[in-house]
Amino acid sequence: MLRLLCFTAHPDDEAGGFGGTLLRYSERGVETHVICLTPGQAATHRGIAKSDEELSALRREEFNAASKLLKVSHGEVLDYPDARLDRQDFLAVVGDLTRRVRQIKPHVMMSMGTEGAITAHPDHSMVSLFATMACHWAARTNRFADQLENGLATHQTQKLYYASALFTMPQRQPVSLAPTTTIIHLEQREIDIKIAAFKCHTTQAPLFGFFEDTIRRRGNLEVFHLANACTPRKAEAETDLFAGVEDR
Ligand SMILES: [Zn+2]
Repeated sequence: MLRLLCFTAHPDDEAGGFGGTLLRYSERGVETHVICLTPGQAATHRGIAKSDEELSALRREEFNAASKLLKVSHGEVLDYPDARLDRQDFLAVVGDLTRRVRQIKPHVMMSMGTEGAITAHPDHSMVSLFATMACHWAARTNRFADQLENGLATHQTQKLYYASALFTMPQRQPVSLAPTTTIIHLEQREIDIKIAAFKCHTTQAPLFGFFEDTIRRRGNLEVFHLANACTPRKAEAETDLFAGVEDR
């Protein structure tokens, strides 16, 4: 069975950045995994939450509801601190994510771009860097070798993608996006479910209008940058994240 692993930073990134693609591949029979690094407790919009702990709990529930709509096979929210991913121990986080890559053994991985996606959020940049190193180092016998002594095997992911975009938000910090190599054209039904999944994040309700408006205007595409592949190649235009991937 083919497996797809997506690393995100905050609950709602899975729907906003990857929703249509996660749904598409799940419905094609791919086992889909989403690992979100933080419970989003530093968010500006906080719903009825009176504390960071309450907001974390609410946002975990919202993530689970969104994941269900997107037919995610396995979704998990980790406990790294929102808005502080740039202050974590780099090696410790990469070790944690490497272990998860070795356990899940994805054929394809995706994460956000190093620039931090169109919102330029530093957590988005950091999850990109952590996921990238976990992707590379999971394959190596000389990285986190203690994991290999404890029953895990090395795993080489065949392709790593960064989510990208074909527009920027001028009112935000400047971002230099990774060039699009891969375009997923969403059907109307997939767009509707993606918007519904985003709206599962009820604590973020003040964002719904802007999100839906943006998606309805520009959201029939989810675009990606093929950052790494296990076989050397020239960049070419793709419409399938699993193009050329072997089921092994
Ligand atoms: Zn985010």
